[in-house]
Amino acid sequence: MGYLKQIDIENFKSWRGKTVLGPFMRFNCIIGTNGSGKSNVMDALSFAMGERAASLRVKHLRDLVHGAHIGQPVQETSSVALRYCDDEDRETVFCRTIAGDSTEYHVNGTHVTFDKYIQELEKIGVVSKAQNCLVFQGAVESIALKHPKERTKVFECISQSREHAEEYDLRKKAMLKA
Ligand code: ATP
Ligand code: MG
Repeated sequence: MGYLKQIDIENFKSWRGKTVLGPFMRFNCIIGTNGSGKSNVMDALSFAMGERAASLRVKHLRDLVHGAHIGQPVQETSSVALRYCDDEDRETVFCRTIAGDSTEYHVNGTHVTFDKYIQELEKIGVVSKAQNCLVFQGAVESIALKHPKERTKVFECISQSREHAEEYDLRKKAMLKA
């Protein structure tokens, strides 16, 4: 199973100009004082995984550009690129950009549609519809307080086992009959 090796950021949220986060390992811990940008790392990840503005703590995508939160964006454009490394050390780069009010997706430098981008992410096991793969600040409690059936659904969505639930039920019925 591969892992996220590096995040290349340009003019995104608290990062002005070009910034490289990483290299990461398979397990990472980010520490810092209040307001230092820990949640912004989650936002950068989430943004590059195709998330919408509403889930990124902003009203419009352009609010994600460095300086925009105080009405002084440094540029019209901003980007986040995820460098994913597979077991053979081959790299795939997933990059999302903001240009004014529009957003674009690139895989290894090739411009692709949103659907294609999501498909390519799914190939490496990133399931964008399983938003709960990323547990944001304050969300631990709400997940812990969910009804067990609802919580099961969350894990089924993350593990993609839900897609096999029907087949599983059919086989179970067949085994019980036999
Ligand atoms: P806490 O420990 O309180 O959760 P944190 O480390 O998670 O803090 P973040 O919420 O990631 O902190 O970062 C907040 C900082 O990001 C603030 O200082 C805010 O000014 C800055 N910030 C957010 N959006 C932008 C933006 N568009 N441009 C520049 N700075 C921004
Ligand atoms: Mg935070």
